[in-house]
Amino acid sequence: MECDYCERRCRLGPDSFGYCKMYRQEGGRIVERFPDRWCAYGVSRVETIPFYHAWPGARCLVVGTSGCNFNCRYCANAEVVKVDPAGLADIMLDIAPEAMVAKARKHGCHAIVFAVNEPTVSLPTLARVAEAAKAAGIAMGCLTNGYGTPRSTALLGRIFSFVNVSLKGLASEFCVDYLSVPEAGPILRNIAALARVCHVEVTTPVIEGVNDQEMEAMADFLAGVRRDIPWHVFRLLPEYRMQQEHYPSIEALSAKVEAVKNRLDYVYFHNFIGSRWVNTHCPSCGAVAISRHSLGCGGDKLDTFFAAGGRCPSCNGPIALYGEHVAWNAKEATA
Ligand code: SF4
Repeated sequence: MECDYCERRCRLGPDSFGYCKMYRQEGGRIVERFPDRWCAYGVSRVETIPFYHAWPGARCLVVGTSGCNFNCRYCANAEVVKVDPAGLADIMLDIAPEAMVAKARKHGCHAIVFAVNEPTVSLPTLARVAEAAKAAGIAMGCLTNGYGTPRSTALLGRIFSFVNVSLKGLASEFCVDYLSVPEAGPILRNIAALARVCHVEVTTPVIEGVNDQEMEAMADFLAGVRRDIPWHVFRLLPEYRMQQEHYPSIEALSAKVEAVKNRLDYVYFHNFIGSRWVNTHCPSCGAVAISRHSLGCGGDKLDTFFAAGGRCPSCNGPIALYGEHVAWNAKEATA
């Protein structure tokens, strides 16, 4: 039986689990092997995930399961993503949807964000959490590689109201060599589909000399979907099978970001200490609408929010935002 949660479209049986090893076939249905089981949860700032235009300032419960449908050379979470999930069964945490939402409430979180591995491999579990979160008034967001089928992407767009899609590259050679998928076509299709139904940001991990030549083409593609999609150019810190590679030059990549910055309303460059590319500027007049600082390694933090009501403090032009600005220490969930 074919699994249509992602474009790998693996053949599954009762004992054959597909590429991600997270689903199996049972009685003519595709079912999860590890429903409601989790490898990680913890509290984090929404900016570190990264989301810069969704619930700015929010405290999030960041959660993850195991497994992935990609095999990225530079995976940052290989310990839980690249191992056989069955080997983690003893340490995975059994947390029912209502209990996960209760954890979010207990820790004063304004949102739950799936951001450790790929949500496509755990969609039924995530749908159950979303139902409980909705009843509690808590927003749900995720990071995704965007390789779902049209059906599962539609489901993803119903589960999550804010999504950050990783657009890692465009060339088929890159997709094969670095991600182990044949092409980026489904990802482009799904970015456009998701942007029609929920808040979308896009992150591109940049590898100097490998995919930085595609930055103009990626910016143009995103602008063709929506000019106000926030684009995070992410300085890749090589991990997993790229540990021996050098760190990308901040100066060289800054010049490339400078060259594309006017193609979209909001272009950021971060994942290193002291980036000057982490503030939100008004696309109309250039005034700072949200100031942030970067501690590197995804440790970004909101400093001052000037965009009350989604308006520029200087010219009153629109600033694209989803959700309210919430103070990190605000006790009540406000979604
Ligand atoms: S979700 Fe997993 S099992 Fe299903 S098609 Fe994708 S990789 Fe294969």
